Amino acid sequence: MSFALTGRFPAYRPRRLRQSPALRRFVSETRLNVGQLTLPLFVRAGRKVRRAIEAMPGVFQFSPDELVRQAAQAHELDVPAVLLFGIPDAKDEKASGAYARNGIVQQTVRLLKKELPELIVITDVCLCEYMSHGHCGIVERRKSGARILNDPTLKLLARTAVSHAEAGADIVAPSDMMDGRVRAIRQALDRGGFTAMPIMSYAAKFASAFYGPFREAAESAPRFGDRRSYQMDAANAREALREVALDIEEGADIVMVKPALACLDILYRVKTEFGYPTAAYSVSAEYSMIKAAAGNGWIDERAVTMETLLALRRAGADILITYAATDVARWTRESKP
Ligand SMILES: [Zn+2]
Repeated sequence: MSFALTGRFPAYRPRRLRQSPALRRFVSETRLNVGQLTLPLFVRAGRKVRRAIEAMPGVFQFSPDELVRQAAQAHELDVPAVLLFGIPDAKDEKASGAYARNGIVQQTVRLLKKELPELIVITDVCLCEYMSHGHCGIVERRKSGARILNDPTLKLLARTAVSHAEAGADIVAPSDMMDGRVRAIRQALDRGGFTAMPIMSYAAKFASAFYGPFREAAESAPRFGDRRSYQMDAANAREALREVALDIEEGADIVMVKPALACLDILYRVKTEFGYPTAAYSVSAEYSMIKAAAGNGWIDERAVTMETLLALRRAGADILITYAATDVARWTRESKP
């Protein structure tokens, strides 16, 4: 980049404005605000359940009662939103648990909205946790191999989104990466009377090795094959912009880039190109790597986490989805003078 007008040394000395914390804060271009955070939470049936996820220290699968306590803790620290993932007791080949009226997510949404009405409850809309094969869509098995069917899957995704809306969710967030799902969900919501329900689409979601620890957390690892026939290839940035454009045309209100740290260029381009509210999902391995290195005493957990989130903001993210949301909110409060 070349600047039309910029000072030159010695008249211009950038260090002048770096002399004190107050001056640095005064001219900082990017700020991290607790109001931008979203905490992902995993819910499973039961009472008083806190099942630790080994590869994500500090992250648990909670029963609904425990989950409400966690959400309340985050909310008291001003974290405005949670993103819910459900782990059902039973899985099948049509993901019945995803759109069951009394499914685990639907129950938990009702409970959260009753106990914490001000908290924004975002629900992940996908089928993989509810499918016995662990894929995000309906599978057709042939001699030549298995295929994930796109169009028949849309109906189930739409049904899932409507069931979340009926339970009282504030935002639905489709993460499946089927073509045309945002349109299908928008139409189904509108038909159901939920014209005011926003859609946060996982618009540029890459097939990523950074999702590894999440599979344990959500118990959603595919039994065969992988997700590369529907999630994006990490090599493609221009295609990511087309995916985002499609989702916006189909009715997405917020677009998401996932993973975050490996996609700063995508985030920047998405925000610059479309100017829509943009979310960055700092995924499980991004969290686990910091935890592991910090656990070994190799890095400063707090400093690295804050710097990482600031980088996402600088790249253009308005909304930061992170497993560290509660910690970040606490650190922010502690550092207030
Ligand atoms: Zn999925």
